[in-house]
Amino acid sequence: MTSFDMAPERLKKLRDELARETIVEHQIMEQQGNPTDMFKCSECDSTNCAYTEVQKPENRSSEQGITVHVCCSNCGHTWKYT
Ligand SMILES: [Zn+2]
Repeated sequence: MTSFDMAPERLKKLRDELARETIVEHQIMEQQGNPTDMFKCSECDSTNCAYTEVQKPENRSSEQGITVHVCCSNCGHTWKYT
C-alpha cells in the first residue's frame, strides 16, 4: 500500500479543488479578458485573443509577479504568457 492509497479522500478533495480553480480561471478570462491581437494562438494561428493579467501572490518576493493568461476567442485554447 502506498501513501497515496492511504488518503484517497484527501487526494480527491485536492483534485476537486484544482479542477475548480481551473474552471474559475477560465471563466474569469472569458468574462474579463481584454481583446487583443498581440498574441497568436498556437492551435489555430488566430490572433483573435483575449488576455487577463493575474497577480501571483506566491511570487510576491520577485519582480515578475504578473502572469498573463491568454484565451483564444476562436478555438478556446488558453495558455500562459510570463
Ligand atoms: Zn485558437
